[in-house]
Amino acid sequence: MYKLIDGKAHSRCLREQIADEVKEYKRSLGRDIGLAVVLVGNDGASQVYVRNKIKACEEVGIKSFAYYLPETASEQEVEELVCELAENDAVHGILVQLPLPKGLDAEKILSLIPVDKDVDGFSESNMGSLCMNKPCLVACTPNGIMKMLEREGIQLKGKNAVVVGRSNIVGKPMAMLLLNADATVTVCHSKTVGIKEICSSADILVAAVGRAKFITSDMVKEGAVVIDVGMNRDEDGKLCGDVDFEGVKDKCSFITPVPGGVGPMTITMLLYNTLIAAKRRG
Ligand code: NAP
Repeated sequence: MYKLIDGKAHSRCLREQIADEVKEYKRSLGRDIGLAVVLVGNDGASQVYVRNKIKACEEVGIKSFAYYLPETASEQEVEELVCELAENDAVHGILVQLPLPKGLDAEKILSLIPVDKDVDGFSESNMGSLCMNKPCLVACTPNGIMKMLEREGIQLKGKNAVVVGRSNIVGKPMAMLLLNADATVTVCHSKTVGIKEICSSADILVAAVGRAKFITSDMVKEGAVVIDVGMNRDEDGKLCGDVDFEGVKDKCSFITPVPGGVGPMTITMLLYNTLIAAKRRG
């Protein structure tokens, strides 16, 4: 019998703890914790994400500063805003919502976020520190997965972990976190040969592919822990993950659903990173 990992429940619990710590920070230092969110353009999904992030900040008592720039904003305008926020002491974390409109240099813009305000954990410096297992701000989605594994009491030391996907925002940091937790990690990608056999050897299988129901029952070992990062639409337009949940669930010891698994934890870890960034600054 599998256990469903309830990302909403974990998220609720963590947000309560974060809210308490935010309150304590304000009480002892007499100032707010601030997160600046920059949205450029009219991408519908990005608008929803930004709204949800702002709402989550309110929920835990973090002050949010939202900046909406038009689709036509120039590189210089966006860069100037990020530089101003970098200097602003009321802002502990800066998030530039991706993707940016065409013509803007996302890499350049993100590089202007100071490492201690990089609450998305995407900077080269934070990624480098993660690789060296040093304290840093860690990308929210993989960090949220680690929190859920820890809270479920799932042991990682010595386990075979397979991560499918090697993006800079999910796959790579996920692999590093698992490695830092003493798992033996294999990373698969679109050029991997023998992916089915590799996945079938996993005690912990993380799917971050972006393809509906990519992980099928014949790719899952009996008793595996299966974490589904994917957010896709199936043939009926219904939200679904990278894992064929119905086909796979009975082979698993633990599995995350989509929706309600990894997703809710991502924003929670943004709040967590903002709290950490503020505390480090003091
Ligand atoms: P991405 O940048 O598109 O990366 C996808 C990865 O999957 C790439 O490394 C790619 O390999 C690999 N891949 C693609 N097709 C493959 C195949 N046939 N066999 C093996 N590997 C294959 O995507 P991402 O940003 O990491 O996101 C992955 C999924 O997670 C998406 O569905 C996204 O919406 C979702 N997501 C969810 C959250 C959340 O909070 N729940 C957060 C972030 C992302 P190559 O490198 O070789 O191209």
